[in-house]
Amino acid sequence: MSEIVGIDLGTTNSLIAVFRDGRPQLISNVHGDTLTPSVVGVLPSGEVIVGSPAKELRVTEPHRCAATFKRLMGQNQSLKLGGKSFIAPELSAMVLRSLKCDAETFLGETVSEAVITVPAYFNDHQRKATRLAGELAGLKVRRIVNEPTAAALAYGFHDRQARKKLLVIDLGGGTFDVTLMDVFEGALEIISTAGENFLGGEDFTDRLASAVLSSRNLQFEVMEQRNPLMVSRLREECEAAKRILSTHETAAIRIPDPRGILDSDSADFVISRSAFTEIVRPLLDRLRGPIDKALHDGRCARHEVDEVILAGGATRMPAIADLVRDDFGRIPCCSLNPDEVVALGAAVQAALIVDDVAVEDVVMTDVCPHTLGVAIVKEFGGHLEEGYFSPVIHRNTTIPVSREERYATVHPHQTSILLQVYQGEARRVKDNLLLGQLTVDGIPPGPPGQPIEVRFTYDLNGILEVEAYVPGGGRKFQAILNHQSSGLSNDEIREAVKRMQAIKFYPRDDLRNQRLVLFCERLVGEVGVDDRDRLEAALDLFEQAMSSGDRDRFSEARRLLIHLLLDLGIANPEPDVEEES
Ligand code: ADP
Ligand code: MG
Repeated sequence: MSEIVGIDLGTTNSLIAVFRDGRPQLISNVHGDTLTPSVVGVLPSGEVIVGSPAKELRVTEPHRCAATFKRLMGQNQSLKLGGKSFIAPELSAMVLRSLKCDAETFLGETVSEAVITVPAYFNDHQRKATRLAGELAGLKVRRIVNEPTAAALAYGFHDRQARKKLLVIDLGGGTFDVTLMDVFEGALEIISTAGENFLGGEDFTDRLASAVLSSRNLQFEVMEQRNPLMVSRLREECEAAKRILSTHETAAIRIPDPRGILDSDSADFVISRSAFTEIVRPLLDRLRGPIDKALHDGRCARHEVDEVILAGGATRMPAIADLVRDDFGRIPCCSLNPDEVVALGAAVQAALIVDDVAVEDVVMTDVCPHTLGVAIVKEFGGHLEEGYFSPVIHRNTTIPVSREERYATVHPHQTSILLQVYQGEARRVKDNLLLGQLTVDGIPPGPPGQPIEVRFTYDLNGILEVEAYVPGGGRKFQAILNHQSSGLSNDEIREAVKRMQAIKFYPRDDLRNQRLVLFCERLVGEVGVDDRDRLEAALDLFEQAMSSGDRDRFSEARRLLIHLLLDLGIANPEPDVEEES
């Protein structure tokens, strides 16, 4: 049997892991990294590149690349790159395909099944879009797991003796999730979860870039429109500075000129850690909302939390540990790498699915993150008003769950009811998310108040099944709200499958050289004039040698290029094994 892989399909970075020899293990990509940037690019040749080469290309040719598209999952919106249009599940599928190839190379066999993680706060459409992305990549998605649940599974797997109340705080690139859970000797019970789908480390970078531009009386949004190259380079500088500030007290940001060129004459913007913290204060304050909500829903006071676990790369910012210390009076735990913990947990989940003996004493229960219900009509002083929401399954109910509610007709001789199914927390359905609808007919004519029974069944993957029937032996009506019921029609899905098959990916064997080229191309705009000429000359030779097919010429050109990089004080991003040692 082929193995089920565990995939953390992140906004910024994605990882793939497998459960082997009794433990979860990460798999490296062709560049030797476990983190694959969730970036897709289309080269002028029309070939698609994924991961770090695409990230390099994004700096110099932002219009050819897409990033943070996880934020568009579940929305019927397409992105244009390199003149072609793609929807978010297609872009995610390209990332998944690249991870699948890495796993196949590592395992030496075909990989066809996966567990994929999603933010706990992802709604139904976003979950189905993720499932679709898996299918487009040729992966049967065996389970969709909430990211903080996966993080907790990784910790639960490593510490089987624990008995405690854990709070997982997961701040990734684009999303923020908080999950409260009980761990009792290998049994993990998720109590409550809350989050925001538009709050992550990328927002911290944007705030910093915006502050740098403001200091020059420039506006971020305006510049993004007019000078995209300048903003993409400035963002790179801010991203690097943000990371430096996680371990140092100050960092310098070089400000590119309006054409986006950086060189030794570029002006510096020096920033201290405390100034950065003040700039991002509004974002830090927003983190408290979901934390309060998860604790409130779980009826848990701050002092009752035994441990706070950090997941997601953005929790490396010291301000996050400070926030935990101030609010909970304790130092957060990050004994597992916050970048890796979700993927490791996904592999533990895969082991649970196949009943691996190494996890036989691990049990896990999860909750549904949002309230599910139907639209109803209310009567106020004799007149009927439509558009109210009636919950059937409340948020943070343990899953799988099945609940029944009775509804009734409102008009005389009404023989059918259109049941509209919504997800959300608002009192009126217009503020919630429509998941689908179901017509129930065959209701015996009579005065208003003829009953129908509605049953909601929500499974471990977050798929909702709705059944309705007239009591006393009436016909059963059923709807499974799967991806056909979300945004895309069957035809659109077929089209997407066809488009995916037609995509030409840049050959895997040459990816490392391609990344080296793109890396140097980015450098060309970032070094002084003299160095630029030398770099361009060496790069030309290298590219010519690559296409010549002459191995000796290629090795010589590569050696010259790498020597030049060393000369300029820059490390080769694609070292060979021999060069490393
Ligand atoms: P996702 O799960 O959304 O892909 P990750 O968990 O990989 O996200 O985290 C990515 C985010 O973490 C990015 O916004 C990145 O800037 C941020 N990040 C990574 N390392 C650091 C660091 N050392 N200091 C501050 N932020 C960091
Ligand atoms: Mg993540």
